[in-house]
Amino acid sequence: MMPRRIFFVTVLLVFACGLLPAQETSSKHAPGVQKQAFGTREGRPVNLYTLTNSHGVEIRAMNYGGIIVSIRVPDRKGQFADIVLGHETLEGYIPNPPYIGAIVGRYANRIANGTFPLDGKTYTLPKNDGPNTLHGGVARTFDKVVWDDEPLKGKTPGVRFTYLSKDGEEGFPGNLTAKVTYSLNEENELVIDYEATTDKATPINLSQHSYFNLASEGSGDILNTELMLNADRFTPVDKNLIPTGELRPVKGTPFDFTTSTRIGARIDDPYDQMVLGHGYDHNFVIKRKGSGLDLAARAYEPGSGRVLEVFTTQPAVQFYTGNFLDGTVTGKQGHVYKRRNAFCLETQHYPDSPNHPDFPSTILKPGQTFHEKTVFKFSAK
Ligand code: BGC
Repeated sequence: MMPRRIFFVTVLLVFACGLLPAQETSSKHAPGVQKQAFGTREGRPVNLYTLTNSHGVEIRAMNYGGIIVSIRVPDRKGQFADIVLGHETLEGYIPNPPYIGAIVGRYANRIANGTFPLDGKTYTLPKNDGPNTLHGGVARTFDKVVWDDEPLKGKTPGVRFTYLSKDGEEGFPGNLTAKVTYSLNEENELVIDYEATTDKATPINLSQHSYFNLASEGSGDILNTELMLNADRFTPVDKNLIPTGELRPVKGTPFDFTTSTRIGARIDDPYDQMVLGHGYDHNFVIKRKGSGLDLAARAYEPGSGRVLEVFTTQPAVQFYTGNFLDGTVTGKQGHVYKRRNAFCLETQHYPDSPNHPDFPSTILKPGQTFHEKTVFKFSAK
């Protein structure tokens, strides 16, 4: 028999542990996927999925826009924090001018003058960024629609979102079926799989638009975060942020992140491209080894020790320092998101590829399957 005093102390301890907020424990958790109602849009239910692994890492995503709502990961002391900008409710994302957390498509980033040629025809798209089309158009873009949803309850928890973008939608040709799968494994990796098929040739470029702040969302600017980009060239832009066609070596420029460097170290340099981008808002060409996953970027936040590594099959990554966040968006816990309070690492094909025959092709044809993969790996040191 357990002596009475020990029994009471044990009961007290068990009770106290139960009261600790989940984010401050690093105890074992059951991996899994949970679905909860999150509201309605276009008369359709919006569901929020929570993916958890046994280390307590937790990712929440919804079928409206495929938006990643939160990512909770530990720092070097095991303290958990949410490291992506976002909102607590569905309404917070309507509208969502910075594309916070969303899947962007049918064509991520810009298409110059909202037009492109394909198979002898000229296609015209709605413009939403000065003279350009940005992130797929205006109304029914991938970040603003309700996707079909399906939880994946296998060994690795996940969720699959599917969207049929109809022929002519936002000016693009072909019925395009896109599938995006998020899964969270035991290596603390969020794996994003993109797949698409079409019944007419169409440009396609899909990306994930999460805004990261590894110290925790809403904690201020990201200028102290150290970044390595596995890229020795980038695509300079004109005043409308459209690639000029040049592939410029980063060596000797503020765009050289081949060795880990503070994001803020050169961000206000009077270098032509920095001035045009209002900071970093550029497409970096990843040094690819083959057709599989390659390291694109590694970000390290010295205060918390959190590390984000990005691996991808895509040819490039848009490094964007939230230059256009202007304090007009209030997010989680009343946090006001200001200029450079987060950064994005959007794996992608080069912007405006349909107008640049020299860039890797973004044209998907009937009978082909588009397949890309990106991995966000979280750790701390
Ligand atoms: C673009 C930025 C844009 C941001 C939000 C990024 O992909 O490169 O110029 O402001 O998305 O739309």
